[in-house]
Amino acid sequence: MANKRKINAQAKGHNGPIDFEVSIDNDQVTDLEIKQHSETPGIFNQVADKLRSDVLENQSFAIDAISGATVMSEAILESADQAVKKEGIQLPEKEKGQAREKEEVQADVVVIGGGEAGLVAAARLLMAGKKVALLEKNGYLGGATILNGSNVTATGSKTAEKVFGENAKKDSPQKLAEDVSNESLHTNDENLTQMMTENIGDAIDFISEFADLNYGKAQTQTPEHSIDRQIELPSSSSYELVKKLAEAFTKKGGQIFLDARVEHILQDKEGKVTGVVAEGRKRTLTVHENAIILSTGGYGANLDMRGKESQGLNYYGPQTSTGDAFQFLAPLELQTKNIGWYKVYPHGVEVEPGIAKLTTYASKKATDMGAIYVNKEGHRIVDESNVYAKLRNAVLEQTDKMAFLLMDQRTWEEFYHLLVLHDFTEEEIQHYFANDGKKSPIFVHGSLKEVAQKAGIDAEQLQKTLNSYEKFAAQGKDEEFDRDPQFLHNYEGDEFYVVEQKDRFATTLGGFVTGADLNLRTKNGERVSNIWGAGEVIGGANGHDSMPSMMNTWSISSGYVAANNALLQLK
Ligand SMILES: Cc1cc2nc3c(=O)[nH]c(=O)nc-3n(C[C@H](O)[C@H](O)[C@H](O)COP(=O)(O)OP(=O)(O)OC[C@H]3O[C@@H](n4cnc5c(N)ncnc54)[C@H](O)[C@@H]3O)c2cc1C
Repeated sequence: MANKRKINAQAKGHNGPIDFEVSIDNDQVTDLEIKQHSETPGIFNQVADKLRSDVLENQSFAIDAISGATVMSEAILESADQAVKKEGIQLPEKEKGQAREKEEVQADVVVIGGGEAGLVAAARLLMAGKKVALLEKNGYLGGATILNGSNVTATGSKTAEKVFGENAKKDSPQKLAEDVSNESLHTNDENLTQMMTENIGDAIDFISEFADLNYGKAQTQTPEHSIDRQIELPSSSSYELVKKLAEAFTKKGGQIFLDARVEHILQDKEGKVTGVVAEGRKRTLTVHENAIILSTGGYGANLDMRGKESQGLNYYGPQTSTGDAFQFLAPLELQTKNIGWYKVYPHGVEVEPGIAKLTTYASKKATDMGAIYVNKEGHRIVDESNVYAKLRNAVLEQTDKMAFLLMDQRTWEEFYHLLVLHDFTEEEIQHYFANDGKKSPIFVHGSLKEVAQKAGIDAEQLQKTLNSYEKFAAQGKDEEFDRDPQFLHNYEGDEFYVVEQKDRFATTLGGFVTGADLNLRTKNGERVSNIWGAGEVIGGANGHDSMPSMMNTWSISSGYVAANNALLQLK
């Protein structure tokens, strides 16, 4: 007799509860559908899809978690298992001691890392008729790429002509290279920058056609660029880029291996790399190839690799950016550069030691409403409404590299609303208040004296600072920092809130050294002729401080060029 049931369950996610429904028909699981969640969509959607298909295939919740999202997937599997058992349904238990599979693959090129750099390179190689194997250590694609808003430059592309019309002709690779150089205070590697700016146009046109991407004008054209040239995808998310590139790649015959973490290289007698070995939960995969594209992303999540410059800075990028290539390529003794350089932003709170969540939307709103930034000594530190780089640098100069945002009740309410809208839960904020300023992140509430004492700010000086600021607001002239009068507002009432503000980073700007050919270089300066690097794993193109959109520009452009250069050699 048919026995159809839908069972509701809830798992604890990273950002809050995950509500889902398990459909059962005659003791068979027929669906696992997510109803509501507040996780990062790019990662979560892929994890949920993979879990669903694994559960349906195995007819069990006692299956392996998804690599790179273990906690989240185990939470879902466990809650599903409990909910189903409560209904009296018994699904098969995990088979113990399954043999590890060994798989050998022959390819023309292996691409290591399935972020944007790797996917672009893989697509280009496939279109030129090569047998390509793309290896990704996580159980989902996208790395850091999946977390960004898809904004990239369109200089020199047909896409730019379509989006910017006649104005596109006013832009040029040279002009873009000059902007990069100025923004990074000439710390960039000019050869790499030139390669990037000369090729981004062709790369954008190539991926647009390959994966049917429909770029439009980016909503924000940031002032660091001297001309409008920033484009983005309709969804404003690089998840769209990753998803469509991967779909087109597999449809056209490319092979993607998920859960395949490259851990070793195989070398011949001359030291030439002839293969890579990747480990997954159930399988050891060996790929023999003639060429390698290395696109493993950054190393921000690897505390051991972080240099002095990162002290006091908190990381908010993916936990999977662990710089693996710096370990598995160690036998080649490769050159690296600028390992201590990071793309640093203001507006972070330290939610775990060394780990940040960004408060940009909320902090910007608070300063637009007149809130001020003070330091431990109780002094204002900056024109709060200036560009982010000024804010960032001012915070770095303070005691403990920390500033505090001082808000009244009405500003706090807006701030709180935006925190909850962007990645914070109400529960989590309550928890921070319960710490009462005794540990990070500092969120405190009370009279001016109370907030100062709890947050460890000099209370007497804070009162003086507030008095002067109130005077500036009343007269419409900021005598201390010359803040734009439209952002000078008096504080209302006698309830105050203080929230810590620390600088944060997600992107590493250093990496392996290459020439414009993108071949890695050994410490002796020799070219590694069959390994090309692309994306964040290579340092230099954007120097010490990348402009908005330029990490995507670098990754897409270098992925495209790395593939073209490999093709020239493979012919
Ligand atoms: C939150 C956030 C916002 C950002 N916003 C912007 C922005 O607005 N504009 C901009 O230009 N840039 C932005 N960036 C930076 C940009 O996203 C990255 O620099 C870029 O996506 C890097 O691409 P990639 O392909 O080099 O690396 P990734 O996208 O990180 O891909 C590398 C892949 O390699 C895999 N991998 C690593 N090691 C191994 C191994 N041993 N074996 C197999 N696979 C491995 C990783 O799991 C990952 O999937 C942002 C970054 C973050 C984190």
